Amino acid sequence: MDEAADLLSRTIDVLVVGGGPAGSAAALGALRERPDAHVVIADAAEFPRDKTCGDGIAPHGLDVLRDLGVTDAVAGYRPVDRMRLRTPGGAEVATPSARANYVVPREVFDARLVAAAQARGAQLIRRRVRSLEFTDRPRLDGRGREPVVVVNGSLTARVVIGADGANSAVRRGLGLPGNPPGAMAIAVRAYTEVAFGDGPPEQFIHMTDEGWPAYAWSFPIGDGRANIGYGMLRSRLAGGTDGTSAKTVLRRTLARMLPETPAHPATLRAHHLPLSTHRPRQPNGPVLLAGDAASLINPLTGEGIYYAVLSGSLAGHAAVRAAHPAAAGRVYRRALDAELGRHLRHTALLAGLAGRRRTLMDAAVRAARTRTELYDMLVEIGLGRGTIPTSSLTRLAMRRTMTGLR
Ligand SMILES: Cc1cc2nc3c(=O)[nH]c(=O)nc-3n(C[C@H](O)[C@H](O)[C@H](O)COP(=O)(O)OP(=O)(O)OC[C@H]3O[C@@H](n4cnc5c(N)ncnc54)[C@H](O)[C@@H]3O)c2cc1C
Repeated sequence: MDEAADLLSRTIDVLVVGGGPAGSAAALGALRERPDAHVVIADAAEFPRDKTCGDGIAPHGLDVLRDLGVTDAVAGYRPVDRMRLRTPGGAEVATPSARANYVVPREVFDARLVAAAQARGAQLIRRRVRSLEFTDRPRLDGRGREPVVVVNGSLTARVVIGADGANSAVRRGLGLPGNPPGAMAIAVRAYTEVAFGDGPPEQFIHMTDEGWPAYAWSFPIGDGRANIGYGMLRSRLAGGTDGTSAKTVLRRTLARMLPETPAHPATLRAHHLPLSTHRPRQPNGPVLLAGDAASLINPLTGEGIYYAVLSGSLAGHAAVRAAHPAAAGRVYRRALDAELGRHLRHTALLAGLAGRRRTLMDAAVRAARTRTELYDMLVEIGLGRGTIPTSSLTRLAMRRTMTGLR
């Protein structure tokens, strides 16, 4: 029987929709838990493929990948262990980071992850998923019937993991709407040539008043190129009054903010970032959402790769560990909340405050210049799973009440 006919005739244990970081981590997580599971990754694109992104890989995501057995995700790329932050009010901090970041084009990074999942036994197929249907079919052992999910009317799976990004078809199939404009960012990214400087490489983040909260970035790859971009909330982005498209408005702002590094026009792309300030509740049942499909992007920084690999890994585990496919959603929801719940609540609180009061960001960055522990805490909150210490939380809650009263 050929591969296509074989796929149609059997019940797949875990069907992962999307082979980005969340999808590959989901496949790896499932196969680590149950190496003999039949895991299929269905992606609309052929790998290697580009993904519009800043290409910044935080060390926290690499920790998750290492746990999953992937040790070569950033091999050959140099560590970038300095970050420069500039706020709209002109405060600036440039400090070595406690742990290095990497800048790896997603065309390379994602292909490595999906290859690691294949090497572990996952089957990669090229397929755009359009529909989900919940039904049941006779069990192979003849003992009654079992509930299954039928995808595109032809692929049958016990559990489906929707890791299909910001415009998730699986999420729509569950009847869950996308993020509203106030919790959806949009950004343009491009590549540019950069001179090799004398100093250590650094990631530069330049926040701006225009449409606050918004920022431009320049992340050096280490091969004579940098990834540059500019992003802001969808709700703050009015198209040009002269009918200019959103992408053009973003491109012009990027050119104004980083005038010394012109974007290579052929590499300029825009994409949405569904922020974690509006996450759908993971339903009970056999369909799980991970990464961008679950609106897991940090509202303070736009970081999503760490959340994608962490949530993907947890979803993969839950998919094969739950006593019954129908219990997978609940098992996964609890695991995700245990890992990220507190952090996500704190980032939402901070994003709300910073969005209303950009001077808060100026004050934080000014203070971080002399207080390393504060700087490290901000980095952990922005790139990892850091939380606000209880004493500061009380002060922030009071400030929020005061702001609300005004
Ligand atoms: C401009 C920009 C800059 C960013 N910069 C950073 C950064 O520097 N660092 C960081 O950590 N995060 C960054 N992010 C966020 C990061 O890109 C995402 O959070 C991350 O890619 C999420 O991974 P994912 O696996 O959930 O989804 P994706 O990486 O989007 O992967 C989804 C996969 O699903 C496939 N797919 C989509 N629809 C279907 C379908 N219907 N059927 C089958 N397959 C489908 C796609 O082809 C794709 O391969 C940025 C985002 C943007 C837009």
